Amino acid sequence: MEESVYNSTVVGKILLTPDLMILRVRTDEPRPKFESGQFTQIGVLAKEPRSQNSILIAEDLPPNKLIKRPYSIASANHETQNFEFYISQVKSGQLTPRLFNLNLGSRMWVDTKILGLFKLNDTPKNCDIVMVATGTGLAPYISFLRSHILENQHRKLAVIHGASYPWDLGYYSELTFLQYTFKNFYYFPTLVHAEKEWNGLRGYIEDHLQSGILQKEANIEINPEKTHFFLCGNPKMVESVSSILKGYGYTKHTRVKPGALHVEEW
Ligand SMILES: Cc1cc2nc3c(=O)[nH]c(=O)nc-3n(C[C@H](O)[C@H](O)[C@H](O)COP(=O)(O)OP(=O)(O)OC[C@H]3O[C@@H](n4cnc5c(N)ncnc54)[C@H](O)[C@@H]3O)c2cc1C
Repeated sequence: MEESVYNSTVVGKILLTPDLMILRVRTDEPRPKFESGQFTQIGVLAKEPRSQNSILIAEDLPPNKLIKRPYSIASANHETQNFEFYISQVKSGQLTPRLFNLNLGSRMWVDTKILGLFKLNDTPKNCDIVMVATGTGLAPYISFLRSHILENQHRKLAVIHGASYPWDLGYYSELTFLQYTFKNFYYFPTLVHAEKEWNGLRGYIEDHLQSGILQKEANIEINPEKTHFFLCGNPKMVESVSSILKGYGYTKHTRVKPGALHVEEW
């Protein structure tokens, strides 16, 4: 029987690995227009089964409790009913094992509100943009590029994406395609556990920033007057990259005080 709280249907599920997926959801009713980089909450009831590869934990949740969490929207900002999410499974978590068990046609809940200050189009029009992510922290940048790359050809845009293995590089084909299509777009995927066949970058994002990859490969200056940085993903990466950038004079962008360092904390 249809659960009255549910207001959306799964219309796409791409499992990139057993613990990493792109989930596409269609809401029954349109949502308000959002800005790329923002997030919404999604959820299912506690009675929904967990995925088979999750860790069984002792849960004491009433079956009709709605488990909900925020997720960045990866879709272009003109979408009002079709939303894409890039999600990693926390095997011991409450919500993600249930999301990973959904299939095409499954019903679920999507909040009617779309929120967030991590708005990539909120930057001075003439500055370059560097988007740094680990893992699913890439999602807001996919929205930004899908929404705004065409009107941003006058400035440089770079994505630095850190992951463990090649199969963890979600959106690799889309980003590679953009790199070949737009002269002003640079894509730097870097892997910490790459096999010898991988001929791209290896190691941590921090090391590449410090060795000057942006200046050498893209002629992008690490200078708060000229370049805005966005950071999203693993809290340790966010902390250490923030600390490197603060050394260059970057200050964090907040609602009250504009800065050139934009951080989304998960
Ligand atoms: C603004 C915002 C946007 C977000 N966008 C995304 C997104 O686009 N994609 C995405 O996958 N997640 C995103 N998250 C994280 C998401 O909201 C959940 O926290 C995450 O999916 C875990 O939910 P859960 O219910 O399965 O685990 P929970 O039951 O909430 O957590 C269980 C435990 O796992 C820890 N944990 C949480 N996340 C991780 C992780 N990634 N790896 C290891 N341990 C973890 C928690 O600290 C907690 O101790 C976002 C969070 C915020 C605040």
